[in-house]
Amino acid sequence: MISFSGKVKKELSGNADGARHCLIAETAGILCFGAKADGRDSEGPGAVFQTESSPAARKCFTLFKKTFNIVAVIRTGQRVNRSAGKLITVMTEQADTGKMLAACRLERKGSCFVPAARADDSMILRRECCRRAFLRGAFLAAGSMSDPNGKGYQFELVSPTEEAAEDARAVIASFGINARINVRKKSFVVYVKDGTDVVTLLGAMGASGALMDMENIRIVKEMRNNVNRGLNCDMANINKTVAAAARHTDDINYIMQHGEFESLPAQLKETARLRLLNPEATLSDLGEMLEPPVGKSGVNHRLDKISRIAEDLRKKSGEITEGSR
Ligand SMILES: [Zn+2]
Repeated sequence: MISFSGKVKKELSGNADGARHCLIAETAGILCFGAKADGRDSEGPGAVFQTESSPAARKCFTLFKKTFNIVAVIRTGQRVNRSAGKLITVMTEQADTGKMLAACRLERKGSCFVPAARADDSMILRRECCRRAFLRGAFLAAGSMSDPNGKGYQFELVSPTEEAAEDARAVIASFGINARINVRKKSFVVYVKDGTDVVTLLGAMGASGALMDMENIRIVKEMRNNVNRGLNCDMANINKTVAAAARHTDDINYIMQHGEFESLPAQLKETARLRLLNPEATLSDLGEMLEPPVGKSGVNHRLDKISRIAEDLRKKSGEITEGSR
C-alpha cells in the first residue's frame, strides 16, 4: 500500500510546467536536499541523486531535461531491504552539473550542494512561486509525512546540511509557519507538527489532492472525538444518577428497618415511596410523579433530608462515628 508520503510525492511529481524561475528553484530544492557531489571526477563533481521514490526520480530527470537540457543517466538498483523500494540513481556529468549549479546559485560543500546565499538574499527564492517550488523539490528529495489517520501530524525534511535546513525553515516561515530543526545523527531535520500548519504546507507545495484528503481525515477525527467526548459525558451522568439513587434507597431502607418511616413528614414519605418503586427514574421523573409535581431540585432537597435523617439514626445507633461518611 502506498504511504501518505508516497501519495504526496506522486502528486508533486505530476506537474513540471512552471516558469523557468520556478523550475530552477525546484531543481535547487532537489539538489540541496537529495543530491551528492560525485567525488570521482577530478575536474569537478557530477551530481548523483538517489531515491526510493520513482515519482521523485522521474521529476528530477524531467527538471534536468526541461530546465537545462541535460539528459541524466538513470540506474535502478536492487532493493535495499524487503520493506524499502528499489534505489534509483539519477546522475549527471560534471560539465552539466557545473551549468546547473551556476543557474541554481548553489555551491559545493563537502559532498553536498548548498545555496551560495542565505534564503533572505537568495535570488532564486525571491519570488513566492519559487519558494513553493523549492519546498516541492526538497520534499520530493527528502520529505516525509506521517499518515494523518494516525496519532498526531508530522511533516519533515531531512537535510544533509545546516545551510539547506535553515533555508527551508526561512522559506516555511515566509508562509507564516514556524518550523523547528532537530539534529539527528548527521542530518538536520526540519519539522512541523501542528495539523493546520501541515495542511498549509501541503497547500504551499501545491499538493491540493493530499491537502483535501488530510482535511477530510481531520474532520472525521474531530467528529469522532466529539462523539466520544459526548458519550463519556453521558456515561458519567448516568453513573452519577445510579449511584445517587442507590444511596437514597439504602437510606430509606435503613429508616424503615429502624421503624422510623411512619414518623417522617408526609412529603418525605411520598417521595421515599416513589424512589423505592422507581429505581431507574431520574429526579425530574420522580418530581413529575409527585402530587402536586415538584421540580428536580425540590426532589433533591427532600431526598437529602431523608439521607440526613438516616445519618442521624446511624449515629444514634453507633453504626457510624462523626466524619466517617
Ligand atoms: Zn517562480
